[in-house]
Parts: sequence; structure tokens; C-alpha cells
Amino acid sequence: MVYVTGFRCFKCGTHHLPQEIENKPIPRCSVCNSGLDAEYDYGSIRKSLLRDPFMRESPTHWKYWAFLPVRDLSHIITMGEGGTPLLESNSLTRDIGCGRMLVKYEAMNPTGSFKDRGSSLEITKAMEYGKKRVVLASTGNMGASVAAYAAFAGLDCIVFVPNIVGSAKIKQIKAYGADIRFVNGDYSHAMKEAENYVISHLDSFLTGDYPWRGEGTKTVGMEIADQLYWTVPDVVIAPVGNGTLIWGIFEAFRDMYAVGVIERKPAIFGVQVDACRPVVDAWEKGASEIIAVEDPQTVATAIACGDPIDGLGALRAVRETGGQGVSVSDGEVIQARDFLAENGIFVEPSGAVAYAGARRVKDGLDDKTVVCMATGHGLKDMYGIE
Ligand SMILES: *Cc1c(COP(=O)(O)O)cnc(C)c1O
Repeated sequence: MVYVTGFRCFKCGTHHLPQEIENKPIPRCSVCNSGLDAEYDYGSIRKSLLRDPFMRESPTHWKYWAFLPVRDLSHIITMGEGGTPLLESNSLTRDIGCGRMLVKYEAMNPTGSFKDRGSSLEITKAMEYGKKRVVLASTGNMGASVAAYAAFAGLDCIVFVPNIVGSAKIKQIKAYGADIRFVNGDYSHAMKEAENYVISHLDSFLTGDYPWRGEGTKTVGMEIADQLYWTVPDVVIAPVGNGTLIWGIFEAFRDMYAVGVIERKPAIFGVQVDACRPVVDAWEKGASEIIAVEDPQTVATAIACGDPIDGLGALRAVRETGGQGVSVSDGEVIQARDFLAENGIFVEPSGAVAYAGARRVKDGLDDKTVVCMATGHGLKDMYGIE
């Protein structure tokens, strides 16, 4: 029933058994404190899954449960996340001049962003461990998403919020009844506060960019292949904040390839903004370390993560697939947001970052089938719209 075999450290490679990770307040490497990558028994998944019904069933988040670290399917907390549209637009295709341009419209999730995929798994795990409360740091969307799922499951929720978060997002978190604590500092400071809280309150479950969220997020990549009738696009373009989304997309294609449902993997492009581009810098320099940016300021608030937790994963996703690191200006982000909206696809500024990246790298996309991630709903942050 459960196919996860362990968690390996991104940085030092130490392998941890699932039970070693599950009982830790902060699920990180016990040797070097870095992020962790789940490993699965692909042989068993292959035996149990590769049947026609799986290939034909419509795509939704929990369709891919065999690739998620969950023990008991009867306790799943779901609000119908995933199964979001993959929109093909001729006008976008013409704008970029590629073969086909498709937009994965993650705004269609219950709280308006892809964060709901990770939240569904995290709250399921919190229930599995019998926790009373969930705690996290958030740039807004994750807070709203976890607050919604916690409320739905009957758990309390505390959100540590850095000073850059927009008021619409704060209101959404409040509406779900979460306890909001403002932090005088950036996202990294808020995260420290959340971690300190769970260390001193063991009935609390830490959510955020830790392994559960990464695993939950990868179903978006599985849906892309599924919605293309199990073919693989040439390029997938994703915004990079903490790097959890892009790493999840990489893992999705790796896992599907390992069990044989797809025959190749896409090149994965990661896009950041000029004011906060630690992963793009590392990619350009060929470096193996990410150098943090202090207190980044940008219109793309959902990706203003100066010290990205899954930055090494993001770097690996781009490097190992022959992708590219791209950075765009705030102005280009807003232009892309406006253009997408004029074509019926309304996203918040961070949700247009991938498309702005596609415009930047146009020339490399001739004849290619390209998927751009549109990560959050336009109604969440209408910056500059009068
Ligand atoms: C969280 C978020 C991102 C960035 O995702 P990471 O996993 O942090 O890289 C991008 N866009 C939106 C709308 C988000 O909510």
C-alpha cells in the first residue's frame, strides 16, 4: 500500500528511513539539515499500477496516490484539488512562435493556487499523526491553502507572515479562521519562527516546503503527461520561489519514467525575477551552492524567497534536464500578466512569471511543445489593475 522507501538528502546524500523522518518536528536531513528527496519502490508501483484503467481514469491529484507517501487512503483530506485545465491557445502559440503553447491553469484549485496539492497531502499526514494544529510560514498562498485544508479537517492553524504579503492574501487566510502572526522580516525569518514554534509545541505539525509538500506538488507534472495522452512536452516552464514546484515537476517526470508510463523527459526551465534570482545565478555560474538574497522586493511576491529551501532541487531540475535558468523584470511580469488576461487567462503576477520567461527565451522554443505553469489566480493580487 505504501511505496515510499526513504528520504535522501539533496546535499550530503544521507538516506533516512520513512519512520525516522515522520517523527521529527522539522523533517530535514539529520546530518546537514538540508532538504530531502523521497524515494519509492518503483518495481512494486509498476506491478500494481500499469493497468489500462489507470491510464484511462481522468486526471486528478489523488489518482497518483501510489507515488505519494501516504499510509491509509481512508483518511485522505481532499477538497477536489488538481485536475486543472491544460489550456492550448493559438494566440499564445503565435506570440511565442513555438509549435504548441499550453498553459497549466493552477488557479482552478480550491484556494486558487497549486499549493492545494501539497496541502492536501500535508493535512492528510497531520491527521495520520494525530496532530491538533498546523503551523507554517507563508508568502500568502500557502497560508491560505493550508488554512483552508486545516479548517476543513477541523485542525487549528497558525501562519507566520513576512511583511511583504498583500492584503487580499491576508484576508483570505483570515477568512479561513487561521491565527496570523506578522513577522518583522522576510520569508526566511518567518520560517525560523514557524520552526521554533513546532519545536516547543509537539502537538503541532510543521507544513511548508518540507518533503510532504514537495511530494504532493509533483502530481501537477503527472497531470501534464496524462492530459497529453501520456506523451511528454518538449519544455515545461515554471516560476521558482522556494523551488518546490519545479522540483516536484522534475520528480513527477522522473517517477513516471521509472515506472515506464512515459518514454522521455521534458527540459525544465526555471524563471525568477531580477530582484530575486539566486537559483538563476547559480545556474549561470555553474555553481553548486545557492547564495541567498536579503529581503528581496518584487511584484511577484509569491516567489520572493531569497534563501530558497528547495533551491538545490530547482538547480538540479534545470541542469539534469538540459533546461535553462531565466530571469525577467517586474515590468515583463506585469506585461505577461496583462497579455494572459487579455487572452482569458487571469493570473496574479507570480502566475505570469513562467510566461514572461517563455517570451524571453522565444528563440529556443521553435517547433517545440511548451507547457507554462500559471500558478495562482488573478483575483488574489490585482497589482496595477485600476
Ligand atoms: C508558491 C508559488 C510560487 C512558487 O513556488 P515554489 O514552490 O515556492 O517555487 C509561484 N507562484 C505562485 C502563485 C505561488 O503561490
